[in-house]
Amino acid sequence: MSEHCIVIGASHAAAQLVSSLRQEGWEGKISIVGDEPYLPYHRPPLSKAFFVGEKTEEDLLIRAADFYTKNKVDLLLGSRVSRIDRDAKKIILEDDAEIPYTKLVLTTGARVRKIPFVGSELAGVFYMRDLNDVKQTHKFTGPGKSAVIIGGGYIGLETAASLRKIGMNVTVIEAMSRVLQRVTAPEVSAFYTRIHTEEGVDIRTEAGVDAITGEQHVEGVRLADGSTIPADLVIIGVGVLPNVELAEAADLTIDNGIVVDEFATTNDSDIFAAGDCSNHYNPIYKRQLRLESVQNATDQAKIAAKAICGKPEVYRALPWFWSDQYDLKLQIAGLSQGFDQVVIRGDSEQGRSFAAFYFSEGNLIAVDAINRPKEFMMSKRALTAGQSADPLKLADESIEIKDAFN
Ligand SMILES: Cc1cc2nc3c(=O)[nH]c(=O)nc-3n(C[C@H](O)[C@H](O)[C@H](O)COP(=O)(O)OP(=O)(O)OC[C@H]3O[C@@H](n4cnc5c(N)ncnc54)[C@H](O)[C@@H]3O)c2cc1C
Repeated sequence: MSEHCIVIGASHAAAQLVSSLRQEGWEGKISIVGDEPYLPYHRPPLSKAFFVGEKTEEDLLIRAADFYTKNKVDLLLGSRVSRIDRDAKKIILEDDAEIPYTKLVLTTGARVRKIPFVGSELAGVFYMRDLNDVKQTHKFTGPGKSAVIIGGGYIGLETAASLRKIGMNVTVIEAMSRVLQRVTAPEVSAFYTRIHTEEGVDIRTEAGVDAITGEQHVEGVRLADGSTIPADLVIIGVGVLPNVELAEAADLTIDNGIVVDEFATTNDSDIFAAGDCSNHYNPIYKRQLRLESVQNATDQAKIAAKAICGKPEVYRALPWFWSDQYDLKLQIAGLSQGFDQVVIRGDSEQGRSFAAFYFSEGNLIAVDAINRPKEFMMSKRALTAGQSADPLKLADESIEIKDAFN
């Protein structure tokens, strides 16, 4: 049989993978099978520029339609893969169609974690993951209307900023004692709480949701303390789960994601995985990671393409991420989990620009840089090179940032 690489899922990792496959010299057939009806599109603007109408659907496309034609990539969009038959080396679609492969790549990503709140089926209640979700929210937005966001993570806060931009009354409900608790230092959480409050968002922490209320359309969110916040729109953003069921049913190794080696290869040497669905070993942090970022989807897809083309290269990328809210550009380099010291450069209690450097046992492990591109770039470079920094110099703005690293 002639070579055929099938990619399951049509998003960030898939778009990069097919491009890298051709660049690396893959001459066989390539197909992408994706269950969403769209060409691979950028997800980050869904809670940002697209949400407020500053970007169109066309602007979201990762590659224009003719890219796939020129690169001879067959697209089966709106098609869901229901099974992988590893013995026969074929995939089976929901309509029972069977397609043989020689190489298979799982870029199935993640889906939103759903919480069965009473009332979550009411019109006007949404999760934020897909273009379809966000297109529907537009019917419920407008100046003077009210929105409640359940979850004070990045997506919840970005959506809050977008909704304020279009003149809505916004309340954010967070179960923990501070927003962004899982991912940042208390100083960074306090900063975002201050900014959102200054921008008119009502942030409620340690708040439990009792029910979403309304008849057919959402009318409010009742909290555990008995109070009700009026709402025309409710957005739930409480994290995601990796889409591993297809891989699991095919007996691929699963552990918080599809487990792959440093070449993005699963326990089947003809099956690869990349992006949000995968769990890999990161040599910089010396531990297994499942990341949810465009950087990881893109960089790991390049590694998978190289392995498929017989040019294996170890995946050794520094994780980085960003979040845009109001005029704030947060750039994150590295992973802060497990930090035991935080050093602030600038003033996090006033203004809109500072950087938080995270250390573990005296070693720099990550930075959150807010409107501080230089700090981000220098830290990214240092972290990639395995360098640390002097906390006293980092905290002293009279010392050039480049002189703080060692
Ligand atoms: C609102 C929002 C804002 C974000 N903002 C940022 C940001 O600012 N910065 C950042 O780095 N990241 C951000 N992210 C995260 C980023 O979008 C993800 O990390 C990225 O989309 C992961 O890409 P992926 O290709 O691994 O998977 P996904 O984008 O999850 O795509 C997987 C695709 O596979 C499809 N699929 C799953 N199973 C099957 C099947 N059986 N058959 C066919 N198709 C299937 C899914 O429907 C989906 O279309 C954001 C995400 C969201 C939702």
